[in-house]
Formats: sequence, structure tokens, C-alpha cells
Amino acid sequence: MEEIYIFGHKSPDTDSILSSLVLEAIEKTMGIYQAKAYRLGEINKETKYALDYFGVKAPELLEEVKEGQPVMLVDHNEFGQSVKGIEKAKIIRVVDHHRIANFETSEPLFYMAMPVGCTATILHDMCHVSGIKIDKITAGLMLSAIISDTLLLKSPTCTVKDKEVAEELAKLAEVDLNTYGLNMLKAGTDLSDFTPEQLINIDSKPFTTNGIKYQAAQVNTASIEDVLKNKDEIEKAMKKFMEENNLDLFVFMITDILENNSQIIVLGKQEIAEIAFNVKLENNTAFLSGVVSRKKQIVPNIDNAIA
Ligand code: MG
Ligand code: MG
Ligand code: MG
Repeated sequence: MEEIYIFGHKSPDTDSILSSLVLEAIEKTMGIYQAKAYRLGEINKETKYALDYFGVKAPELLEEVKEGQPVMLVDHNEFGQSVKGIEKAKIIRVVDHHRIANFETSEPLFYMAMPVGCTATILHDMCHVSGIKIDKITAGLMLSAIISDTLLLKSPTCTVKDKEVAEELAKLAEVDLNTYGLNMLKAGTDLSDFTPEQLINIDSKPFTTNGIKYQAAQVNTASIEDVLKNKDEIEKAMKKFMEENNLDLFVFMITDILENNSQIIVLGKQEIAEIAFNVKLENNTAFLSGVVSRKKQIVPNIDNAIA
């Protein structure tokens, strides 16, 4: 049988990479499909920390898919965030925890969606339902994805279910949840050797609402101030990216993972962001207290402000 490609979104985060690997392991155990994990971009430092810790190799890079290629999507569904050629691919499965938008298939599919904090939490459910035993390494990968997406269970996207699953997985993975989690998140805050162009692409997603094209990117840090030292260069990179991609708006979130706040830098139709977050931008920037989630606290507000 033809090999099925499993992948998460472009500029992949820890959930996109690790949930692809976990689904590959699940498919192998179930034995129905021959499926292999891929990545749509560079591995970030946080993900690398988790892969190294559990001794797992990163998936290979996938640049595009051919017409009719069978695929499984994790951690995304919007075609704008997916692989080149996705419109003509054959989508077999989607396992995701995002809004469903700009998504259409010509054939029936297996679609598993839950409003939980992480794709790995849904995959954990899938194992449970199918009676699949979770080994130490798979548990470690799932746990790392949950820690990443929920900022160590502190994000407003984190549900009771994510917490319960994370605690169970920490035992299976034989790690202390808080110690391991903080070390992993900290590994992702080392932004020292990124150019501004790379910085705005570490975790960056495109959205289109009512014809307004915008980008929402995010970096994690232990010091917002440190990142703001390069504000001028970051804005230059954002501006260039907007021109190249014909964007109306760019929101760049600098998220303090210790204090759980974000500073945003906004270019383009700034009035949308000012309405969305009820702030006045000064020098293109504003501090958003208690805001850490793009999915729950940034994108819906922008969409409401656009509508
Ligand atoms: Mg993701
Ligand atoms: Mg996710
Ligand atoms: Mg994220």
C-alpha cells in the first residue's frame, strides 16, 4: 500500500512535530495504514530539547505533495497553514484542536476534533479507545506536546482533561512534570542566534477573515525587554514579510512564559488590533496582561474586530 504522510502545520511547533510522530506510532500499532511522520519546516529549540531528551529522531522535511497523495493532518486543518499541494491531496485523517476553517474534502474522512489544549491529548484518547498501551517514549512525546501548547498547563486553552492526561503521562515518561516542563520551555526561549527574519517565522500562522489577510506570530521568552531591544529590526522584517505576502495586518506576540503576559508589535491595519485588544498602540506596540494564547486570546478577537 502507498505510504501515507502525516504532518502538522507549517513553521511547526512542538505539538505539530511530536503529535505527527505519535500518530505514526499509533498507526503502526493499529496496522491498518502504512503511515510516516514528516515536518513542514525547521525544528525549533524547544522541540529539539524534547526529541533529544527522549532520544527520538526528527521527521524528514516535506516540501509539497502530489495530486492524490494520501495524507493525515495533525494540529491544523486550514489549507493556508498546510503543505503545498494540500488542495489536491487525499485527506484520510485529521486530528486537531483548532477551529475548522477554509477546509474542504471531496471524500469522506476520519476527523477527530476536540476543544482541548493540545493534539496529543486527543491522541491519548485515541490510544485509550483503541486499547493501545503507551510506552515511555511515546508518553514523553505526548507530554512534551501538552506542556508546549498549554505553557506548562497555565494557558487558558488548557482543560481539566489536558491536566489529567499530562499527570498520567509524566508518570509513564518517568519525569517530574514541572522540572522537565520548565526546562523544555526554557530551551525554547533561547532566541539569541535568530535573525529578525527567522524570529518572526519560528511560530507564525496566516489567517484570512472577510478578505483581510493577517499573520499572527509568537515567540516565547523569559524577558520581553530582551526581545524588544531588536524592535526596529523585527519591524523591518515584519514589514518585508507583509509586502512579500500581501498582508493587511501582522501581529507579533512576545510571550513571557514565566509571568504569562504578552507584548504585541502590530503593523498594517493597526486599528483592527486596537479594537480587538482595547488598547492604544504606542510605537506600534502594546502590553497585553494575561494574554498568552494566540488561539483563544488573539485570533478570535481580531476576527471579531474585523467582522
Ligand atoms: Mg500548533
Ligand atoms: Mg497544537
Ligand atoms: Mg503554540
